[in-house]
Amino acid sequence: MHELGLLHGVVETVELAVGQAGTTRVEAVGLRVGTLSGALPDALQGAWPIAVAGTRLDGARLDLDVVQAAVWCPTCRAEQPVDEFFALVCPVCGTPTGVLVHGREFEVAYADLDDS
Ligand SMILES: [Zn+2]
Repeated sequence: MHELGLLHGVVETVELAVGQAGTTRVEAVGLRVGTLSGALPDALQGAWPIAVAGTRLDGARLDLDVVQAAVWCPTCRAEQPVDEFFALVCPVCGTPTGVLVHGREFEVAYADLDDS
């Protein structure tokens, strides 16, 4: 499962932050995931308990913030949503554009640490 590998990176990042904060428990981890990031939200949720098992994140909730992919269209002079990676054209006017402004996100948005 490809999502499991991605989540191991997330766990490492958050464990580092937990270590620096001196806390022992993590309540929740927020992850920003673009619709073209290659990671599926359902698969991420499914892999999460496996990824955190035996780490300091064990028991933490995974909150996903799914980011709709969008291109910048020079003709419309606006961001337009796109659904397919291999068809980067403006859905409104059809102008081809290679400028993907959202959709590749895969990053930790926040980690709720339990300070008590
Ligand atoms: Zn356009």
